[in-house]
Amino acid sequence: MIRGSTELVAIVGSPIAQVKSPENFNTWFANNNCNIAMLPIDLHEAALGSFADSLRGWQNLRGCVVTVPYKQALANCLDGLSARAAALGSVNVIRREPGGRLLGDNVDGAGFLGAARKHGFEPAGKRALVVGCGGVGSAISYALGEAGIASITLHDPSAARLGALCELLGRAFPGLGISTQVSGLEDFDLVANASPVGMGTSAELPLSAALLATLQPDTLVADVVTSPEITPLLHRARQVGCAIQTGPEMAFAQLGHLGAFMGVTPLEI
Ligand code: NAD
Repeated sequence: MIRGSTELVAIVGSPIAQVKSPENFNTWFANNNCNIAMLPIDLHEAALGSFADSLRGWQNLRGCVVTVPYKQALANCLDGLSARAAALGSVNVIRREPGGRLLGDNVDGAGFLGAARKHGFEPAGKRALVVGCGGVGSAISYALGEAGIASITLHDPSAARLGALCELLGRAFPGLGISTQVSGLEDFDLVANASPVGMGTSAELPLSAALLATLQPDTLVADVVTSPEITPLLHRARQVGCAIQTGPEMAFAQLGHLGAFMGVTPLEI
């Protein structure tokens, strides 16, 4: 129950009804006897600046998770950013410090890697293909770079997105091999779809049938799409005998990172 003494965290985006964080966090708070609650906020874009100002003055609020479409816009409204959030130009979590300072981080990549490690994937020295170079694809690629991946191949129909991510990774990780050419999937330890392809009932695949015919059973295949849980790509990978990582696994692995940054849960929950 929310009481006068309850401390708050929030999740902001638009729309907001589809997000799972409030039920995940509020269940954890209740099970662990924490007098904390998460509120969902569907915010109009025009209110973003005044929202950030309100967060600074909101004294019983510990932090705020940020979701689509405000990850980039809110990064520009804060008082400090982690190195990875600054490099990516996007935040998915904000901590309100006791004096009202707002600090941002982006734990999308950490969540992805946490889930991948549960499948026994250790990035150091490995080769990865990341399909989709938007917000989430960039965060995953950056986390792979930080974790010492040997080479990364990127694919995106948007030349601007592809170019921007190549430049970002090249600047941040000078020793990383970066390619944009995919002729087969045989050499990849990890194939990750970080695009919305396969969402809903589209039945679309993010890679061509010819490329998918080269997929090997020792490759970990991951998808960020949360609905359906088993996307057409993951269904195909299962048929080949690959280990698969779902979008909900990535989302769940992020909870501890989000909560720990806001100071309301341990890292491992
Ligand atoms: P975004 O719009 O920033 O980026 C999507 C990228 O995919 C764009 O660069 C676009 O050009 C690219 N793309 C589109 N069609 C493509 C194709 N056929 N092949 C390759 N690339 C293609 O979106 P985002 O914020 O990065 O989100 C991407 C997906 O991740 C969404 O479906 C979102 O719901 C999901 N997501 C999942 C989690 C999770 O925890 N599982 C977290 C955040 C977002």
